Amino acid sequence: MSKQLPAGVERHAFDGTDRLATRGEPVYGEPTDGEWRAWNPHRSKLGAMLEVGMDTGLEGGETVLYLGAASGTTVSHVADFAGPTYAVEFAARPVRDLLETADSRERLFPLLKDARKPATYAHVVESDVDVIVQDVATRGQARVALENRQFLADDGRLLLAVKARSEDVTREPAAVFEDVREELSERYEVLEARQLEAYHADHLGIVAQP
Ligand code: SAM
Repeated sequence: MSKQLPAGVERHAFDGTDRLATRGEPVYGEPTDGEWRAWNPHRSKLGAMLEVGMDTGLEGGETVLYLGAASGTTVSHVADFAGPTYAVEFAARPVRDLLETADSRERLFPLLKDARKPATYAHVVESDVDVIVQDVATRGQARVALENRQFLADDGRLLLAVKARSEDVTREPAAVFEDVREELSERYEVLEARQLEAYHADHLGIVAQP
């Protein structure tokens, strides 16, 4: 169960099951209840972080830089409760769906960009964003977080999902997570780290601050 939920995220019953929900147009076939739509933690690392009760510091209304938006499953929920939400994704195909998702969300700004090259979107993303959410599932996840630190306000939060297998399929996830934490410590302090096993195998959720 979530400890703290941002304003704009509530628990609603869908088919008799209590689930996280945000208010917005449905995006991925999720069940709806009036204006509310279920947020599936099995399809969203950030949803899983909220479900397991991590203290994300999210309050609602924040400016967000979201790295690894794919077709918008999670970032659509974020844009339902956050303020301006810049969604970076480097694969053209999912960005087409993301653009459609953004049609009904005036605060969602899709960017077809590579998160390893922040200079290519520095002119668009406002500085001092409140939150970076990162779910790139690619080698060098800590490096991406370090390189995007420049956008984050000094009192902001990094909400990072680390996929062990994306770094090295042959290594023990625990060893990969240790290395990622070590590398992150160059520019972040880790406040909380939890395995998201109930929802995503071999993934670590991290809440960090600059
Ligand atoms: N966060 C999404 C969600 O919950 O709806 C799922 C993201 S999926 C696990 C990872 C995504 O990161 C993929 O769509 C992939 O194309 C994207 N990605 C990987 N490396 C990237 C990079 N360097 N820049 C931008 N996007 C990247």
